[in-house]
Amino acid sequence: MGELEKATPWHKKIRATGKLYVYDEISLGRWSTVFLPALESFNKHLKPAGVQLEQATTKGKANVVMKLMASTASHGKASMGVNHPAMDVIMEAEIFLPDDPHVRDSTGESVAASVEVMRIIAVHELIHAAGLSNSDHGGDGVFYSPLMHRDGKLYVPQKGRNQNLMPPIRVGPSIVHKVKKLW
Ligand SMILES: [Zn+2]
Repeated sequence: MGELEKATPWHKKIRATGKLYVYDEISLGRWSTVFLPALESFNKHLKPAGVQLEQATTKGKANVVMKLMASTASHGKASMGVNHPAMDVIMEAEIFLPDDPHVRDSTGESVAASVEVMRIIAVHELIHAAGLSNSDHGGDGVFYSPLMHRDGKLYVPQKGRNQNLMPPIRVGPSIVHKVKKLW
């Protein structure tokens, strides 16, 4: 398991279903209300890409397991299991989300992220779990990296991009297109 070096499709049996089953190991403490809303946001914005997420009822049925790690970062990480030795398809994935995410407020102070910001952090990693690598970051919206902080919210700092704050969550059309190519 590790980070992808390039955009990689899931195994064809999974791809044929257009579906990834995600197991919830995050619903405790600050993350207790974020799991299903994050899946809903992904499904709404990535629908044109041909992949939808569903909650896995058991870990055994899951393609993706979402976990927490000790961190105050405003991003998580996705660890992908690929087939060996070809490394050309994904077999399984794990997402690690920061257990105590922080962002900067209007005075530059580091404050606990809102549940809406936490949902954005989760959707970013779910897009990785759909097959995009760090080299696919960019566009407008949640899949830019690193997102900057303002007033306890997130934004894309790149010139010429929409600098509106998130939430509300946005997924850039170029990112939806990249995911669609894998599905
Ligand atoms: Zn990323």
